Amino acid sequence: MSDMPEKFINEEGLRLDGRQVNELRPLKIEVGVLKRADGSCYLELGQNKVVAAVYGPREIHPRHLQNAMETVVRYRYNMASFSVDERKRPGPDRRGVEVSKVSREAIGPVVLKEYYPRSSIDIFVEVLQADAGTRTAGINAASVALADAGIPMKGLVSSCAVGKVDDTLVLDLMKEEDNYGQADMPIAMVAKEDKITLLQMDGHLTNDEFKKGLEMAISGCKKIYEVQKKALIDAYS
Ligand code: ADP
Repeated sequence: MSDMPEKFINEEGLRLDGRQVNELRPLKIEVGVLKRADGSCYLELGQNKVVAAVYGPREIHPRHLQNAMETVVRYRYNMASFSVDERKRPGPDRRGVEVSKVSREAIGPVVLKEYYPRSSIDIFVEVLQADAGTRTAGINAASVALADAGIPMKGLVSSCAVGKVDDTLVLDLMKEEDNYGQADMPIAMVAKEDKITLLQMDGHLTNDEFKKGLEMAISGCKKIYEVQKKALIDAYS
């Protein structure tokens, strides 16, 4: 694990990686990278590298989970053991279960579930390289992979975090900012509807900081939405 930096923001107002406080990390999205999945996406957000694969709608197993009225959306977030500095123990852990749950709840509301009763739509997110913000990177990739699979949706879900370091709000935390910062607030939203589907908070923000931070995160999500849309348009044109 890296050491805590003395300062997160220098005299010029720039962060450890040279970004402005309200600047996202470079974002790269590739659609349809896996042959056997119904939909897939490879996404890089700064040093994060994630792959999302979507299978379905398909017959659900075990059968007793079947819902006669709508499809069941399942989401599995997994961090590869080589994705972090010190080897992560493979397999599910508490954090993975939590991230899978909140990510499913962030994405689920946009899927038109009633179209496919008695089936499941399974979303798998594999984190190949982690540098903070992997749940947001995963949600962005999963949303594109769902669209690539042709799943009918109300809109794309876009996600990014805002946080606080050196008493200053910063968009899209990198690892040092996440590990040693004062707050971390990931959000997800349906950008075209201004509807928030995920809001978590670690640390402390004042009321004013919360309001300003939320605005920053929303504007970050809207920028991500444009990149997601462009990646899909480019892939299908
Ligand atoms: P997120 O990746 O969504 O920001 P967290 O805030 O829980 O989720 O984690 C922040 C970062 O901490 C991760 O992106 C990763 O770089 C690091 N991290 C998380 N879990 C582990 C782990 N088991 N071992 C090493 N580093 C980890």
